[in-house]
Amino acid sequence: MYMMEILDKSLMDRSPLSQLYLTMVNVLELINQEGFNPILIRYFESQLLVNLGYKPVLDRCVRCGSKVFNRLMFSLADGGLVCDTCPASGNHMILRGDCLALLRLLSGGNLQAVRRVKAAPEAMRQLESFLEFYLEYHVERKFRIKNTIRWLKQAVPVSI
Ligand SMILES: [Zn+2]
Repeated sequence: MYMMEILDKSLMDRSPLSQLYLTMVNVLELINQEGFNPILIRYFESQLLVNLGYKPVLDRCVRCGSKVFNRLMFSLADGGLVCDTCPASGNHMILRGDCLALLRLLSGGNLQAVRRVKAAPEAMRQLESFLEFYLEYHVERKFRIKNTIRWLKQAVPVSI
């Protein structure tokens, strides 16, 4: 239900995204076969972002291309990591290393690798927050997705 609501709120009529449709079907089949796993929902959220054109830049500074980071500052506005020498942006999150590794895996689009991941609870918590903020930042203005996410999290007793 959460996945359907997010799709309903974030996609435009008559603009088919066949890859995203396949992702949704694959995730639902896995949940059906193996039971619920929060990483599958995070995968779906990250693939929604990729398909909407907001794939995060996670391997270099989104502004200057540097690969040297003392801290992992992710700029929501720029859609990627920003290095220490580039000016800080207003809307950003400092990512944990394990959360960044999860994000890279999710963005890579390999569901078979994703389903086998065993992640630390702290990394999963930050991942959930990050994807919510990022979706909210880029999709909220058009689609009011934030209220849907919050409403569903309250309405569904299982943590999603
Ligand atoms: Zn930079």
